[in-house]
This record gives sequence, structure tokens and C-alpha cells, in this order.
Amino acid sequence: MEAEALIALAERVLAPTYRRPPVLFTHGEGMYVYDANGRRYLDFVAGIAVCALGHADPGVAQVVAEQARRLVHLSNLYHTEPHLHLAEALVAHSFADRVFFCNSGAEAAEAALKFARKFARLRFGPHKTGFVAFTHSFHGRTMGALSVTEKPAYREPFAPLVPGVTFVPFNDVEAARAAITEETCAVIVEPIQGEGGVNVATPAFLRALRARCDEVGALLIFDEVQCGLGRTGTLWAYEAYGVEPDLLTVAKPLANGLPIGAVLMREAVAAALQPGDHGSTFAGGPLVTAVALHVFRRLCDPTFLAHVREVGEYLMARLQALALPGVKEIRGRGLLVGIEIEGDARAVVAAALERGLLITTAGDTVVRLVPPLIVERAHIDEALGILEDAMRAALPARSSHA
Ligand SMILES: *Cc1c(COP(=O)(O)O)cnc(C)c1O
Repeated sequence: MEAEALIALAERVLAPTYRRPPVLFTHGEGMYVYDANGRRYLDFVAGIAVCALGHADPGVAQVVAEQARRLVHLSNLYHTEPHLHLAEALVAHSFADRVFFCNSGAEAAEAALKFARKFARLRFGPHKTGFVAFTHSFHGRTMGALSVTEKPAYREPFAPLVPGVTFVPFNDVEAARAAITEETCAVIVEPIQGEGGVNVATPAFLRALRARCDEVGALLIFDEVQCGLGRTGTLWAYEAYGVEPDLLTVAKPLANGLPIGAVLMREAVAAALQPGDHGSTFAGGPLVTAVALHVFRRLCDPTFLAHVREVGEYLMARLQALALPGVKEIRGRGLLVGIEIEGDARAVVAAALERGLLITTAGDTVVRLVPPLIVERAHIDEALGILEDAMRAALPARSSHA
């Protein structure tokens, strides 16, 4: 079937939950993806901060092929090797003592919220059930994860959600202190918010959350699904703050595109759990965890992380120097960057696509750059050349206000 016919088919057979451009992508290599007409695109989306090692990575492909020939799935009814090695590696390189595997970021949020409830019930009794979350948060689309996600457009069509969630303005220390009470079982926060507009937590804010959680016996959950695993130039975003959580959710890049999520936790949290409390048929399977172990080892490499910091600083410095039209603010850390503009971010994304660059949005007015972490300076130069063009084309009337 021709690409155009296939794109037309999407209109008929897929549930209309996504808006996609009329391009059919067929393959990728490194920093680039290709469409059915053989056109090349520079990828600064990376499958939404997922393909940290880029596309069609030979090391990843080799692990997929080898493990697929050995063992793909047995379920959590049995011990298999790869998830044990992966859990051991995650624990060795983090604050955590134990790991729970799942299949996505939303599932990781679900599990973390459930574990917090179980912990609070055992330790303090059934009254301590409240959650505190923040404006512009994003934790996923399932009912529990959605309940701590603030964006009204995501929530309202699906109400009623899980009760007992209080939203507090992000980075507002005093409001957070007041909202976190003896009734709070957990606080969930992204150290650097992704979908909500690339908002960086202040050190004082995360320190205050940690202190207040300790005062009232609430657990602190960091959602590092987007900002974790090297994206900001340290393995975990929390490292840059010197504040450690009790639970940490990870997902997006962990297996470079195969679906996996995980909750990292302290021993005290794990001690509240027992067989049967939570589970998943697919989670932690041998194929996905063998790939994740390979990916995780590469992301942990100090040389790799130094590269992310180096190109991240280069990207930020180049962006600041460009004086792009209609830009209000440039935010982020490492290779998680948001450009707040006066105007419609989707128009910029569309103009960039036409010019061979994949970028995405983080809300209506923020253009988000989350390239594969293997990006080099030359790719950044190429991307910013196209971005500048695209912004001048998409925001012509606004350029005079820049
Ligand atoms: C993407 C994302 C999620 C949800 O992950 P899914 O795998 O899409 O369920 C949760 N939290 C953050 C911070 C994310 O960026």
C-alpha cells in the first residue's frame, strides 16, 4: 500500500486520540529518521525523550536479537536472569534498595501511589491517604496517574478521579508546606517538569518538600520518567539537588524504546509490601530487561554523562545567542529544553517538520527539544538553523516584539 493510502487508513481504523502529521516514517539511524519517500528528518524528539541512544542502535539491536532467540517472556511467576541484573544495577546506581518493574511511566506512577498508600496504612493507619501534587504536573493517563496530573483538559472528561489529591503551585514553598499535612501519605513531583512546559524545580522547593514530608511522615515520590536516566546530564535529576526521594519512577528511555517502567524505593517502603499486593503480566520480562540492562550500563557511563552535559550546555548557549523571534524564555537542563514563545508552539513544530526537523511541544506555547542523548554539536547546529527558519515562518508577526 502507498504511504498516502496508509495515512488515509489511519483516519478510518485508529481511535482518534492523536493528531499526527501526514508523514509515514519507515526507519531510522542514529539521529535521523526517514519517511516512505526517502526524505530524511533530524530527530529532536527521540520518541518523546525515549530513544536516548538514537535509532537502530547496533548494540541494542544485537541484545534484542540474542535475547529473543533465548527467552522473551515467562511472567513474574518465575525467576529469570535479566531483570535481576537490571534491578541490581539500578539499586547500585541510585538511592534505592529495591525495584518494582512495570511497563510504562503511568504504571510506575500507579505503583508508587499504591505503595505509598500501603506504607501509610501499615505505619499510621487508614486515615493517612492524601496525595499532594503540583500545577503543570504530568504523571500519566491512567486513572491514578491522571488524578495527580493537573492539566484540566486531560482530567475533566474522565472525572471522577481518585479523591484526596491537593494541587499546589509548582515551586511555591509556603503553599507546599501548608498543603502537606498529617493526612498526606505522599507527595509526587517531577524535579524538572516535562509535558507541563519544562519547568525546573528550585533547590529550595525540593529541599522544603523533603523536610516537610519527613515532619509529617509522608513519602516523597520523584517522577523522573522524563528527566531521569541521563537526560539532564546526571544519571538522576535529583543528584543536582542533593535531595533524595523515598520512591522514584522511571520509564521512557530505560530500554531505548521497548516498553518498560520501574519504581525504585527505599527498604522501608518495600517492607510494607507482600506477595499479591501488586503485579503485572508483562513487567520485567527477559527481553525488555536484557535490553534495559544494556541501555542502563551505557547511560551510567561517566563519559556518556559528561557528553550530555557538554552538548546540553552548547545547545543552551547557542539558543540564548540566536535571538529567535517571539521567544519569551528558554528553560531546562541538559538535553531537556523548553522554549516559551509568544504564539502557537504547534505552528512551529509543523514548520520545522516541513523543513526536515522533528521537534515537539510541551503545552500550547512551549517548543520542546529532547534529542537523543547521542546528539553532537553538528546536529545541534543543523537543528537550530532549521528551527530559526521555522520560527520566522511560523511567527512572522511576532518577530518585532522579540
Ligand atoms: C511520559 C511521562 C509519564 C507517563 O509515561 P507513559 O509511559 O506515557 O505512561 C509520566 N511522567 C512523566 C514525567 C512523563 O514525562
